[in-house]
Amino acid sequence: MADASCHCGAVKFTLQFAPHQITDCNCSICRRYGALWAYYAPEEVNFTTEDDRTETYMWDDHSIRLHRCKTCGCVTHWSPVDPARNRMGINARMLDPVVVADASLRHFDGADTESYIGE
Ligand SMILES: [Zn+2]
Repeated sequence: MADASCHCGAVKFTLQFAPHQITDCNCSICRRYGALWAYYAPEEVNFTTEDDRTETYMWDDHSIRLHRCKTCGCVTHWSPVDPARNRMGINARMLDPVVVADASLRHFDGADTESYIGE
């Protein structure tokens, strides 16, 4: 289990396990957010705060909602628009650095080739 929180604590969630791998994507939105993504099935993430604590942003094909805390502005996660999609992204920056220290970091070329760099 790993606890995550935005800076002000309005958005909190618990992950069933610490991330093994985190992804740094260079697409136009991820590079601006500076987020590091860890991917989970929605049932592996338990939000302990209300859904209305975030505002969302969509772009491109509108397949995901990028969530940010209404109070402190931290980008906390993204969620799929299609409820059948069993994948969401957690911003690993919301976790204690100790929790992500052992995770491997990989780079995704979302800006161009849509593939992992160096794999
Ligand atoms: Zn906050």
